[in-house]
Amino acid sequence: MKDSNFLKENNGRLMWHPMTSPKDSRDNPPKIITGSSGVRIQDIDGHSVVDAVGGLWNVNLGYSCDVVKQAISDQLEKMPYYSTFRGSTNDAAIELSFELEKFFAPDGLSRAFFTSGGSDSVETALRLARQYHKLRGDAGRVKFLSLKKGYHGTHMGGASVNGNANFRTAYEPLLPGCYHIPAPYTYRNPFNETDPEKLAHLCVAALEDEIAFQGANTIAAMIMEPILGAGGVIPPHKSFAPMVRDVCDRHGILLITDEVITAYGRTGAWSGARLWGIKPDMMCTAKAITNGYFPFGALMLGDKMVEVFEDNPAAKIGHGYTYSGHPVGAAAALACLAETKRLNVIDNAAERGTQLYQGCLALMEKYDIIGDVRGGHGLMTAIEMVSDRATKAPIGADIGGKIQEATYEAGAMVRVSGPNIILSPPLVLSQEDAGLILTALDKGFASL
Ligand code: PMP
Repeated sequence: MKDSNFLKENNGRLMWHPMTSPKDSRDNPPKIITGSSGVRIQDIDGHSVVDAVGGLWNVNLGYSCDVVKQAISDQLEKMPYYSTFRGSTNDAAIELSFELEKFFAPDGLSRAFFTSGGSDSVETALRLARQYHKLRGDAGRVKFLSLKKGYHGTHMGGASVNGNANFRTAYEPLLPGCYHIPAPYTYRNPFNETDPEKLAHLCVAALEDEIAFQGANTIAAMIMEPILGAGGVIPPHKSFAPMVRDVCDRHGILLITDEVITAYGRTGAWSGARLWGIKPDMMCTAKAITNGYFPFGALMLGDKMVEVFEDNPAAKIGHGYTYSGHPVGAAAALACLAETKRLNVIDNAAERGTQLYQGCLALMEKYDIIGDVRGGHGLMTAIEMVSDRATKAPIGADIGGKIQEATYEAGAMVRVSGPNIILSPPLVLSQEDAGLILTALDKGFASL
């Protein structure tokens, strides 16, 4: 390996990073992570910290999952690649479809379309939604609805349904026909409603209103995260998702759940759909499907899609990726599914999630800079920071970075996104390591 100075200098000089400006990565050099084990990461300067980010919400089983590593290396040895485009397929991808059907049957989803990641899964869902309506002779249904503050990846379709201006404005014009509904975000919402259940009803009324305004027969699908993730961990009231499902059903609109974060156990349930007791028509998954060890995703498809696409000679899918059904990704995913079940990480996610959430609420008692703490459903927690609790005025631009750095020095990597500190550690987190994250955060806030 090249020495530390070489790596630091060339990172800033030659590499453009996602979600940051080239100038920022030069002026504020990122941590160079060179090793990982268990739930810990090591940087080039010799620090070892608990990874409270869990890679990027994806390393659910931690960094030492030998079964998955072995599956990847065995598959590489046996057959490193073969495509699943028309005329060929591969054994690992078939086996994975078979396992996924079993895991997702309670969500009403049986078929899989494989992708290379979350943005691909979203793009596939949006395209297939339009095609579904065309195949049914309802070609006017082309528009998409989504939630403000929702995150749906970076492709043009995904960015168009994205509900955060930071990921949109620089890339406009985006796809026409995408409309955004207020999110069930109790801390800040246009209705000034602080009761989560009442707010859920108001957001659903806004959804109905938008559908009436656009005309239901122009809308292909509604896409939403069951718990908004990148937008700041926003769990809706439990009535929200079932009401959205009902509205979509009444208006012939497909419901796509974007579960790139929430599928495979992160919420303390197998999926966000199962957490809220709904059956989506399509579910976007990626990230933890391979524990972050290989870029891979799966769009899961339900009965309505099956009815319209299968046995229909006109239903040619003019969409797919070179890496759809990549055998190494499929082998990794098979091992991850088995380990997720064997280690019972979903129950652990629920328990440790409660510990972290309660711990963050306790920090809120101590530090006025904490305006809101959200979580309580598995290992997805956010701390929203404000400069004034009464007015909820935003914090200064450098505050989040300072807390992040001090927390890192104290032993935990956390992610700062806008005003939020986001915690999404591996689901195999121990009680002790959850405690360590909270102690490090405490020191991070105390450092201000
Ligand atoms: N949808 C959601 C809900 C996500 O959180 C993400 C990634 N954070 C994506 C889509 C995009 O996934 P990817 O970065 O793998 O393309």
